[in-house]
Amino acid sequence: MATPAVDNTPRVPSDIARSRVANFLSAGSNFYTMGIHRGLWVHRHSGAPHVELSVYSVPDLKRVPFKDAVSQTFKKVDQHERNYGPSWATHWFKIATTIPNIMNGKTVVFQWDMGCEGMVWTTDGIPMQGLTGGDGQERHEYIVTKKAKAGERHTFYIEAACNGMFGVGDSAMVPDPNRYFSIKTADLVVPDYEVQDLYYDLDIIKGIAYDTQNESPRAREAVWVINEVINQFILKDRGSIKRCKALTSEFLSVRNGQPKGQHQITAIGNCHIDTAWLWPYDETKRKIARSWSTQVDLMDRYPGYIFTGSQTQQYEWLSELYPSVFEKIKEKEKVGQWEIIGGSWVEHDTNMPSGESLCRQMVLGQRYFEKHFGKRAKIFWLPDSFGYSSQLPQVLKLSGCDYFFTQKLSWNNINKFPLTTFWWTGIDGTNILSHLTPADTYGASVTVAELTKCTKNNHDLEYSNESLLCYGHGDGGGGPTPEMLERLSRLKDVDGLPMVKSGKVLDFFQGIEKHSRGLQSYNGELYLEFHRGTYTTQALVKRGNRISEFLIRDVEILSTMATILAKSSNKKAEDSYAYPINDLEWMWKLLCLNQFHDCLPGSAIGLAFKDVHKHHREIISASLSLRHKAQSAIIDLRALSDDDKIQEGLVAFNTVPWERTEVIEVPRVRSVPGLGAAGYVAHTPDIPTIDAEIGAKAYKDDDGGYFILENQNLKATFNHDGQLVHLVDKKEPERQLIPNGARGNVLKLYEDVPIYWDAWDVEIYHLQKWKPIEGEASIKIVSEGPLKAELHFRQTISDKSWIEQTISLTCLSERLEFSNFVDWHEAHQFLKVEFVWDLVSDYATYEIQYGVLRRPTHYNTTVDSAKFEVCGHKFADLSEANYGVALMNNCKYGYATHGNTQRLSLLRSPKGPDENADMGEHKFKYAIYPHQGHFNASNVVREAIDFNVPLSLRYAEDQRVRSGTVLRPLFQVDPPTQIILDTIKPAEDDQGKGKVLVLRLYEAYGGKATALLKSRLSIKRILVTNVLEDDSDQELPRADEAGSFKLALRPFQILTLKVQLSA
Ligand SMILES: [Zn+2]
Repeated sequence: MATPAVDNTPRVPSDIARSRVANFLSAGSNFYTMGIHRGLWVHRHSGAPHVELSVYSVPDLKRVPFKDAVSQTFKKVDQHERNYGPSWATHWFKIATTIPNIMNGKTVVFQWDMGCEGMVWTTDGIPMQGLTGGDGQERHEYIVTKKAKAGERHTFYIEAACNGMFGVGDSAMVPDPNRYFSIKTADLVVPDYEVQDLYYDLDIIKGIAYDTQNESPRAREAVWVINEVINQFILKDRGSIKRCKALTSEFLSVRNGQPKGQHQITAIGNCHIDTAWLWPYDETKRKIARSWSTQVDLMDRYPGYIFTGSQTQQYEWLSELYPSVFEKIKEKEKVGQWEIIGGSWVEHDTNMPSGESLCRQMVLGQRYFEKHFGKRAKIFWLPDSFGYSSQLPQVLKLSGCDYFFTQKLSWNNINKFPLTTFWWTGIDGTNILSHLTPADTYGASVTVAELTKCTKNNHDLEYSNESLLCYGHGDGGGGPTPEMLERLSRLKDVDGLPMVKSGKVLDFFQGIEKHSRGLQSYNGELYLEFHRGTYTTQALVKRGNRISEFLIRDVEILSTMATILAKSSNKKAEDSYAYPINDLEWMWKLLCLNQFHDCLPGSAIGLAFKDVHKHHREIISASLSLRHKAQSAIIDLRALSDDDKIQEGLVAFNTVPWERTEVIEVPRVRSVPGLGAAGYVAHTPDIPTIDAEIGAKAYKDDDGGYFILENQNLKATFNHDGQLVHLVDKKEPERQLIPNGARGNVLKLYEDVPIYWDAWDVEIYHLQKWKPIEGEASIKIVSEGPLKAELHFRQTISDKSWIEQTISLTCLSERLEFSNFVDWHEAHQFLKVEFVWDLVSDYATYEIQYGVLRRPTHYNTTVDSAKFEVCGHKFADLSEANYGVALMNNCKYGYATHGNTQRLSLLRSPKGPDENADMGEHKFKYAIYPHQGHFNASNVVREAIDFNVPLSLRYAEDQRVRSGTVLRPLFQVDPPTQIILDTIKPAEDDQGKGKVLVLRLYEAYGGKATALLKSRLSIKRILVTNVLEDDSDQELPRADEAGSFKLALRPFQILTLKVQLSA
């Protein structure tokens, strides 16, 4: 099916479109020469020799018969030579015309306008017709001949009466005895019947546009048709006129009562079951069974009825706990009454899950549907999540979804979302056809009011005259009721209402794909102007999610390494290690479940979070144990032979795909290969000593006023409250980063009272009421260096809450790190940290999934200011052309940047629906990373990953440890700057054997990038695949005979590769 093109021009506001139409159709606008009127008549000729005028003016206001008049002497006159009057006088004109060559064979018309009334007479004295000038009821045309011959002469008379239609009065109708008239037009013309035909059509269509109900689908389409005619109209091009006429004919051919002109609504039954919200997961399992069994019963009673269900986790629970209901659903799906939809494991939040999580939601969901229903979901269905990441279009297209449905943006509390049916364009340029139901609900009841809203509230009627109505009670309500179905059966086709049919969502989307025209595209995130507190609420859930995501990643990478090592070693070793395929599937399902759109955002009840925390603890503890196992296997498989020197030592595992040199809690570690491991044997030269001169140091300045952390890269000066008063980047040219008098690391407590949705919302006015957390002046040096220099301070937040912070700088680091411990017992307070920089930029760059997003740093428009609190992943960067600072975090998601002020949101304290939300102890870290060059030329992405993925350390005994590189990298991206290798795991269908690996890479900065993918493994070939790991023929080209392949990625491209290893 051909996809409708994106309209690459901006949508024209309807009042502007209407004014354009009026100008085009006007006979007298300033833009006449560009309108249609100039084309109605062609070959215009006036004056001698083609039009010769002579006049006899009857004296004394007399009215004389034809024969008396024509027997008088007529005086030759030029058209503009004089005026005729006074009021009530009569002037007889003799018009002698000669047909110009160009009019040969044509119908020739004489146009006469002197602003008064007149009668046309033949030379034989036969009165032919009247002519009228002025007063909006003009009649100017007299047909001279229907088939003209060049050179032929036609003579006739016009008896002009010097009065208008309504006499000679002024505005009060009092006659003016001295009115005079002039000849404005006395022309021979030829009608352009094609253009006139088009004009008459347009005249009607304009009437429908202007003079029926303005907002009706027909009136809006009418404006669209005329606007489109104007776009097509080229007077000299007959083909263009024909195309215009085709547009008007098609519009006018729709007859009364015909479905074509009616708004078409597809109604789909659904029940939005929140996987946990005001109840725990266990109750959801019963809600699903209650709701879906009810729906299966309704399908039996109403054979045409169609229902849709999303969230494969819910299907899985049902199949385990209520297998008979699950079987019935499968039957109903086969006969077309049940539609599978969504494709993700749950209806997850899309702001906070990582790029890999977004992919795994789809892998788990689509594979489940394939296994149990033999097909995938084509529609991504997220009616209720709190805003939509701009990386989704690409992830969805790579996961088998062609369409996206939501309604949540109707909850915006500042700006109305401007589109209903549109192409949603992601950061990489991928388009996905999207629809926001104009009924503004996914829990409709099939009422006349809802049907009417589908029309009235539809922003894109002109381009797609169709809407989706999602009806049925959600959560405990069990979906559609018989009453709704009874109403639906009566509302199919009722005069005065849109037409409604029960149908599948897939049919609806395929319909708009076929019938729509010139849809707009909407670029970037679908930011929900609401629920901005959900990036921060329930901090432990956010932390659990972030840690779990990175630990699972560690486990996958290290387990893959261990599996491959085991495979390539002797048989015994292969028995000794098996890829933990079932554990990982269980962990991914658990992680994805807890990304549900009331869990990860923190908007559920405390009871639900007991489960979420438990699940995260389970994932973390299983990950740590699996990682330990994989590391042990690697150490064992890479152990030295028996005759080597026996020593104890340390192995550092690096799961990021680049080499790192870091200070760790044990001796300094140097050059740990990316995706590899390095060993450090006690008392060997591998552990360098640090010269105090170039090491990190913490000290007081001379008069004791300030505390300073300094290394070879940075010098940071703090006041007694731990606030950053100076920060110097010591690299050439040296740069002072904090403006005079400004400060960084300022902790602020904002009053946080939303309008209603407590856990969800932080409102725009919170920015107006805050106090700094300062005054305790407790800062002290806790470590003087040289490996690591540290300051520590404590601040009282209130009589119940306090914060302790350790600020550290290692001898190597370019990051200044802030480790926090907070005991938090507040109510309706919001803790943030703030940095003010000496930087100028009108946008900030935030990390999102597999890419970044720019957002404004100003409040110019309400669309800008509505983004006063936004979601970011591991960093937000503020860069001017050649310098910038990134504010990083290890488990936070709420950010705000205004002007040169960067804020990271730390803790909230809402009291509903969980009255204990966020009460208690919290640990989190943030860091600042100043960098030369703009963000685009920086290492921010890699630094933020390093900050979140510490080297993992293992002590090894006896022969097991070797000094230097223990394990060379499995894969390397060279250079590792723009293309990030994020995921390494066995392919889903590999069953953990380690024969086929999957790598997922992305371009992180938004520019085309090439690099080499190098591997020490013996690779048969590498295939380019999608998120679902579908088979493909596209091979990644080799760069050489060894293990090097050529990578070329588009901006923000997500590239999934299937690596087939040689046996
Ligand atoms: Zn929901």
